[in-house]
Amino acid sequence: MYSEKLKELRVVDGFKFRFHRIMKNEIQRWACTNKRCNAFLKFDTHGVEIDNNLEHNNHAADEKRSLVRQKLSNSVKRKVVEQLCERPSKIIHSEITPDDLNILDSKDINLIRKNIHTARMSKYPILPKTLLEFYAMVPDVVDKLHANGGEKWIIDIDNNKGVVCFSTICVYWCLQTNC
Ligand SMILES: [Zn+2]
Repeated sequence: MYSEKLKELRVVDGFKFRFHRIMKNEIQRWACTNKRCNAFLKFDTHGVEIDNNLEHNNHAADEKRSLVRQKLSNSVKRKVVEQLCERPSKIIHSEITPDDLNILDSKDINLIRKNIHTARMSKYPILPKTLLEFYAMVPDVVDKLHANGGEKWIIDIDNNKGVVCFSTICVYWCLQTNC
């Protein structure tokens, strides 16, 4: 499964482990996601578990329902940012398993929908609140537009008149010679 920040997690007996570091001989150490806990897993280069400490210091495992919700929510979050135009319900349907359906209820699904909305909104550019902010954003936005033949854009902003012009050199010369 994946964390909220979309990093890979491993789950053992309801406890989550995150990748911690690479040790000598390329051994991977995974630590419990509870930062005050000393539990860990170690894997060799073939992904075989070679050592562990599964004694968790004074904390309980996640509830099954909470784990299932996190797993589904975070896998859906990965998909929605890759497929920005797809309906959230369609993505949830493609990711949810019959087992998940037995455990989750409508409250969980609503929470997942909210997470999808937040994940999607974070992908959209922040809209400018003032004209000055808008003028400052124009070069970046125009640079992302694809011009014919990959030509560079020429941008002219007149703050006083409130005019923004952008063109490519090719179009500029065409206009000059035809006018
Ligand atoms: Zn732990």
